Amino acid sequence: MNETRYLPRTALGLLIEAIQDGGYRVIGPRPEIGQGGLAFREISGVEDLPQGVVDHQSPGRYRLEGSGSARNFSWANTASAIKPYVFAPREKLWRVVRKEGRLSFESMQHELQKTAILGVRACDLAALAIQDAHFLEATYRDPYYKARREKLLLVAVNCSHAAATCFCASTGDGPEVVSGFDILLDELDEGFLLRTGTTRGAVIVADLPCEPASSEQIRQAWDQLQHCREQQRALPPASELAGFADKLDDPRWAEIAERCLACGNCTAVCPTCFCHREFDSPALDGVSTERWRDADSCFNADHSYIAGQIVHPGTRERYRQWMTHKLLSWTEQYGRTGCTGCGRCITWCPAGIDFAEEANIILAKKGAAT
Ligand code: SF4
Ligand code: SF4
Repeated sequence: MNETRYLPRTALGLLIEAIQDGGYRVIGPRPEIGQGGLAFREISGVEDLPQGVVDHQSPGRYRLEGSGSARNFSWANTASAIKPYVFAPREKLWRVVRKEGRLSFESMQHELQKTAILGVRACDLAALAIQDAHFLEATYRDPYYKARREKLLLVAVNCSHAAATCFCASTGDGPEVVSGFDILLDELDEGFLLRTGTTRGAVIVADLPCEPASSEQIRQAWDQLQHCREQQRALPPASELAGFADKLDDPRWAEIAERCLACGNCTAVCPTCFCHREFDSPALDGVSTERWRDADSCFNADHSYIAGQIVHPGTRERYRQWMTHKLLSWTEQYGRTGCTGCGRCITWCPAGIDFAEEANIILAKKGAAT
């Protein structure tokens, strides 16, 4: 079934149960108690989803407020992306043991559960495609990422509201989901429009009490998406991003560095950042050692330690590296920028540094905010 159908709101729980009956644990948006945000966490049913909640985001700020509506997906995006479900922040890769004078290597491929993520946004699917290009389509194919990716079922929900930090329309990645989903929903007040993008998505929804969608419901969903587009700000157009090559000595980098704490929050929340480091953890028995991998950040000094020196010695150089890699050299590597316009690096920057606005200023395109 890939035509647009209508699913009443009362049947959302049945969709979650159908996914669980397919052997998946279900990850969905959950309010993080004490953190003030939404994060993708395991849910047991529809009762765990936020309801009537809208997010207010701005540089360095994320707040949830009740809207009084019955909607479960009336927020723009979650604090955490879906990245941790494919690229683990920390994991053991292998272990080696010395036995009778020989080294024996043991793979640490873990038993993985099938995982469905409910509430994925267009910017997150675009980011996943970028991570796929890095981990699955480059010269090295990462078996740890691949194993998780193959177990993933994606239930996307089109946005009905954009946060003040969103700019996915200008990167060409949203707000409408066009590919990469198994099941796609548009949330309306009374229920959902539902489409499937894969056979396994179609199997899961086959027995749900769907009805034909009316032309009025399809128009409402379209209007919501259009409203999202109109609410958004913009990055400079792709055709102008090559201009960063002439801006490496721009004084703005030093001004940003006066505010930037080099904390790496922006790279941690970014759904496309994949930098990591590997290290050994030898046991004290002298006969075994483990190899670990954890997420790293270009804001860490030792991330650029090469041949006895730190290539990016100060915050100025590290912020410049972060932005110019995303918006300039990433295109040479992967054929597109490394930014899908989710705005998380703006919201979760404790110094309130606005990535989109800074890009506009550096390329002399002021007035990023709408
Ligand atoms: S830009 Fe913001 S989030 Fe990123 S390292 Fe600097 S202070 Fe931290
Ligand atoms: S650079 Fe910022 S806005 Fe772009 S994808 Fe990463 S976190 Fe989102």
